[in-house]
Amino acid sequence: MIEIFEYCGKEDGISFLVLAAVHGNETAGTKALRRLIGQLEKREIEIGKGKLTLVPVCNPAAYQKNVRETEENLNRVMKPHQNPQTYEQKLANEICPLIATHRMTLDLHSTHCPEDVPFAFCDYADEYNKPLIAVLPVGYVLEGWPQMYAAQNAISDFSTERYAHTCGNTATTLECGYHEAETAAEIAYQAVLNALAALGMIEAPMPPLMDKKHILMKYFVIKEKSGRLLKNYKHLDKIRAGEKLAVYDDGTILTAPQDGFILLPNPDAKIGTEWYYLGKQG
Ligand SMILES: [Zn+2]
Repeated sequence: MIEIFEYCGKEDGISFLVLAAVHGNETAGTKALRRLIGQLEKREIEIGKGKLTLVPVCNPAAYQKNVRETEENLNRVMKPHQNPQTYEQKLANEICPLIATHRMTLDLHSTHCPEDVPFAFCDYADEYNKPLIAVLPVGYVLEGWPQMYAAQNAISDFSTERYAHTCGNTATTLECGYHEAETAAEIAYQAVLNALAALGMIEAPMPPLMDKKHILMKYFVIKEKSGRLLKNYKHLDKIRAGEKLAVYDDGTILTAPQDGFILLPNPDAKIGTEWYYLGKQG
């Protein structure tokens, strides 16, 4: 069972859901939400309008073991499962009713490499997530994820954003930087406070808008067999067409098809999972 915290304002307003640790080892959001829950309980922060729902740990078993998942990636099976087969599918059955009943969801994640730059995903831009993303304390927005997956025939995957969109709601994913970075929890905390102010849920001045670079995601590469990345790539490193990015142990080399950026490189990717993504400035 997941732990859910709800705070209702006296006045009507938007329903806002914040999720953390959908991936169990991504704990920046958990730390931020626990800090916020402490302040809400002490009434140092009060929800004036609307309803705020917080889930500090969406994948408790993976969180306990400090691993991404137990049986499968929860952020690929985020839809209702009539006959759930895995632990993560059972979790999805607890979380999806929340996503379905909240107009806006913010899903807090973190990434694999030290020095990773924080960024937001915007899969389905609309009038709800555009102003929210504008106040998130990050300099990059990654777009085009659904189109990229559709182009590579992998559209059966359901992320938080896709499920929210399917329900007629809106979700945004925030990647707060490297899992272990001290700044990640602070970015997560500031992001939620800025969102609460921008959504009019707390009495606070409108947070400053932060300029964002927009990156269009073009390809993802699944690690098919044993191999390694050829450089100590970081998220958003620039790459050139033809650059050798990775090599399999059998000698097969993977190169960049065009100039752009390497995104979310995971040097520890398991076989059959996403190794890295490629994108270009949009
Ligand atoms: Zn994640």
